[in-house]
Amino acid sequence: MNDARKKLKDAKRIVIKVGTSTLAYPQTKKLNLYRIDHLIREISDLHNSGKEIIFVTSGAIAAGINKMGLSEKPDTVTENQALAAIGQGVLMHIYEKFFAEYGKTMAQLLLTGNDTIDEHARENSRNSLLAILKMGVIPVINENDAVATDEIKIGDNDNLSAMVATMIDAEVLIILTDIDGVYSANPKIDSNAKLIDEIDEINEEIEKLAGGPGTKLGTGGMYTKIQAAKIAKSAGITMLIVPGKDIECLRKSLSGEKIGTIFPAQKKI
Ligand code: GLU
Repeated sequence: MNDARKKLKDAKRIVIKVGTSTLAYPQTKKLNLYRIDHLIREISDLHNSGKEIIFVTSGAIAAGINKMGLSEKPDTVTENQALAAIGQGVLMHIYEKFFAEYGKTMAQLLLTGNDTIDEHARENSRNSLLAILKMGVIPVINENDAVATDEIKIGDNDNLSAMVATMIDAEVLIILTDIDGVYSANPKIDSNAKLIDEIDEINEEIEKLAGGPGTKLGTGGMYTKIQAAKIAKSAGITMLIVPGKDIECLRKSLSGEKIGTIFPAQKKI
């Protein structure tokens, strides 16, 4: 086991980000309730074990699409904003139900890019997040898509999760996604593509590997995950990309098992 993985089991404050591709079935685009239930149970159990968990979730637009009986994401920004507003409540209702079943209390926070950058707004968001954690409650965060216009929008929850992690001095950021980690080439077209266990330096070569776009329902692809890794690493946070299809990999990776790709934190100066 390498050093960065060994340290994971001692992490206390952990941000877990889950993308739409993990939360919804690719064919029907409806929510994967079985997986969501499992995910919330795992988060609740990690919380029981003494960890502070901050949950960053996408899926509002997908839930809105479902609710309105649409088959895909509309083209216009305003329609997507409306669907995010419709779906956010649906999503929270489901999380609330599962968290309550496992004896947990959650708190919803909807942030914009501005809240993670502007000094005053950042301080306010940080303070309320820390107060929520102190109460033993699990913050559930999404971007406030319904009000975010281009200038204040982050646009993808990978970067949002990294900004949140830096805001509250988390030790680890785990991104659950629809691939197993970062590959040496595109595994869909190159059978020699190998999963990269650890990325110490995000250089041009790594950035080139991250060219691909996201899925039809979500926004982020590998590109935004690498951007998130840059933010996290330089803030002294270790980031992991792990496969969302196996929810167990949350606890496995936190116990140091070799799963997905790890981006060890740069040492804090
Ligand atoms: N905030 C958007 C949602 O909840 C998704 C952003 C992303 O896919 O990263 O649907």
